[in-house]
Amino acid sequence: MESPTLSRAHRIRRLGNLLNLSSPLGLAIARLGGARFSSGPYGLSLAEGFRLRFPPAGAFAVGNVIITRHTIGAVSRHHPDVLRHESAHAWQYFWCGGLPFLPLYALAAGWSWLRTGDPASRNLFERTAGLVRGGYHEAPVTNAGVRRLAGGLQTLIEKPSRLAERSR
Ligand SMILES: [Zn+2]
Repeated sequence: MESPTLSRAHRIRRLGNLLNLSSPLGLAIARLGGARFSSGPYGLSLAEGFRLRFPPAGAFAVGNVIITRHTIGAVSRHHPDVLRHESAHAWQYFWCGGLPFLPLYALAAGWSWLRTGDPASRNLFERTAGLVRGGYHEAPVTNAGVRRLAGGLQTLIEKPSRLAERSR
């Protein structure tokens, strides 16, 4: 059924994310996770009761499909603007031409993790969609991930040499 209030921009986005295959991928993922489908605002499709554990987010967008393990109503009770946040991600898929969003998002999440130890705080896509709307707490820039990585590398380098010393 066509919502009479759906704007021209949201119709174009819905068509774009269908043709660039991001929404079909979202539908496939949601179906794989046994989600129930309904139509949401802004031309989005809601997929609730998703049963897979990955990704760990309360709600996430794949194209125009907004997927959650709970219901959007339950998520909105804690984060009232969550649908606007997910709608912004749907635009990001549109502007990235669909699937290229996924590796770009992974890069942005990796960068954020290096800078803050958290995949969202310095993630361009999450910041643009609104950290607070998405239910994120902004972590300060401490290079926590860089330090964790450096610590891990140091252990990797030191352990074999320590083992070698012991066996001498
Ligand atoms: Zn988000």
